[in-house]
Amino acid sequence: MSYKVYINGEYFDKENATVNVYDHGLLYGDGVFEGMRSYNGKVFRMEQHMDRLWFSAKAIALKIPGTKEEMAQAVNQTLAINNLKDAYIRLVITRGVGPLGISPVRCPHPQVIIITDNITMYPQKCYDEGLEIVTASTIRTSPAAFSPRVKSLNYLNNIMAKLEGLNAGCDEALMLNHKGEICECTGDNIFLVRNGIIYTPPTDAGILEGITRGAVIDLAHQNGISLQEVPQTRHDVYISDECFLTGSAAEVIPVVKVDGREIGTGKPGPITKKLITLFREMIS
Ligand code: PMP
Repeated sequence: MSYKVYINGEYFDKENATVNVYDHGLLYGDGVFEGMRSYNGKVFRMEQHMDRLWFSAKAIALKIPGTKEEMAQAVNQTLAINNLKDAYIRLVITRGVGPLGISPVRCPHPQVIIITDNITMYPQKCYDEGLEIVTASTIRTSPAAFSPRVKSLNYLNNIMAKLEGLNAGCDEALMLNHKGEICECTGDNIFLVRNGIIYTPPTDAGILEGITRGAVIDLAHQNGISLQEVPQTRHDVYISDECFLTGSAAEVIPVVKVDGREIGTGKPGPITKKLITLFREMIS
């Protein structure tokens, strides 16, 4: 299916949706983005996505044209034009066209791109039986270098870790932070369960604050399941009863093996299954 792509207020066929080669988004990865989901025509947690996008842009001193409301409207309009109900949405703001050289100062016009497409999730088998992941030796960017809280167009740090995962036959890889604590996976946040309590690395472990992570934290609180945002190590992973990941594309997905070691019983655990059910109820 050839969906129309929004670029700066105009719609283009996918084949003709192109950017200038002098765009600093392409030349230097200078820009920010969001990955969102729509369920039955409604974008999941649109406001939170807009807030995160605006924070990301502010952190890199990029002024997004227009307001959050106008951006949300453009996203909804793009979904409607493409007649998409259950979709994956990629909203990209690049620094825009400028002369060669990394200075952003001479790029006066940021580009706004909205791509809406079908969603590819993990196969159902992965939800039923759980994923196997490995720890990558590539660590997450230190917040002292560049904050992982910014969802920037420069994903090479995560891509290097993803390659390690793929080379080990795994679709996801766990990344540690500069202190050796567990941080997050290459495109998903991580949660552990021990003795009925859920643990997840805190923001200052150097994670991207996932929108799905936020939704799962809310669901745990609303349903009387204890959840703590505290630093965790690989030791904590290995002795966990359960492990699961969250992300806009993956939603909530169990992990049953890490670094070749079985987690808990080696099958998706009861709290993970409960959260998968609660999450599906929330979006339906
Ligand atoms: N961490 C990283 C590094 C990510 O790229 C993503 C999203 N792809 C997530 C976590 C999950 O965030 P969200 O729930 O907002 O999709």
